[in-house]
Amino acid sequence: MLVNQYQRFNKPFIAAIVSLLLISCQAPVAATGTQTPIADSGGKTQFRHHEPAVDMTPQRALALLQFGNRRFVGGELRSREHTNEVAATAGKQDPFASIVSCIDSRIPPELIFDQKIGDLFVSRVAGNFVNNDILGGLEFGSVQYHAKVIVILGHSGCGAVNGACQDVRQGFLTDTLANILPAVQTVREFNPDMPSDDPVFVHKVAVKNVKLNMEKLLDRDTLLRDLTAKGTIKLMGAMYNVGNGQVEFKYKVVNGKVVAL
Ligand SMILES: [Zn+2]
Repeated sequence: MLVNQYQRFNKPFIAAIVSLLLISCQAPVAATGTQTPIADSGGKTQFRHHEPAVDMTPQRALALLQFGNRRFVGGELRSREHTNEVAATAGKQDPFASIVSCIDSRIPPELIFDQKIGDLFVSRVAGNFVNNDILGGLEFGSVQYHAKVIVILGHSGCGAVNGACQDVRQGFLTDTLANILPAVQTVREFNPDMPSDDPVFVHKVAVKNVKLNMEKLLDRDTLLRDLTAKGTIKLMGAMYNVGNGQVEFKYKVVNGKVVAL
């Protein structure tokens, strides 16, 4: 049923992806899996190949991200062998999570979650919102592959959110920022007298933008909503602090509703 829905709405997208997969499968080096520490206390040297994402629970996938961010904040990033990572993933990828992040240069998801090449699907757009294009990519990650957790990741000091608060209009950026205006309007309703350039106001909008885009995903994407309802995947909302590197998970989904943690 879900596959049928996917095929009906995404045939061109699937065709393009299948072509890419066929090309990638011709690569000469076979995949050997990816390494992931068992827990956050392992330090820099304890590694193991993480279990296949298909066998991973959503909670386990979330924990891997949380452990990784702790390593990032604590200065305990795993030592990286990018050449080996490329070789290990040349013929196959096995990502366990999808991240929707802002384009902000300070927030490379693979670094802040201390994950390797082949571990994450990452969608980046100014203001970390979802639209049909982003949702299609998330479906690809959790249906064609087995990304068990989807994270909508906002952040402090977001220029896109600030621009939306100030109603900036400039070329195509106007259309981009329009996706953040619902969050601006919602926060404005509850804070009618707060200046739009007040950092507190802007931060409230950034957080609300995460929540609204989780709700937008659940409302618009029946496929991902069903996977969430079945517990096949987990949808989470989080904020990244550009001042200290911490990711704070703030929202989850309970009975189809986005609730605060
Ligand atoms: Zn941003």
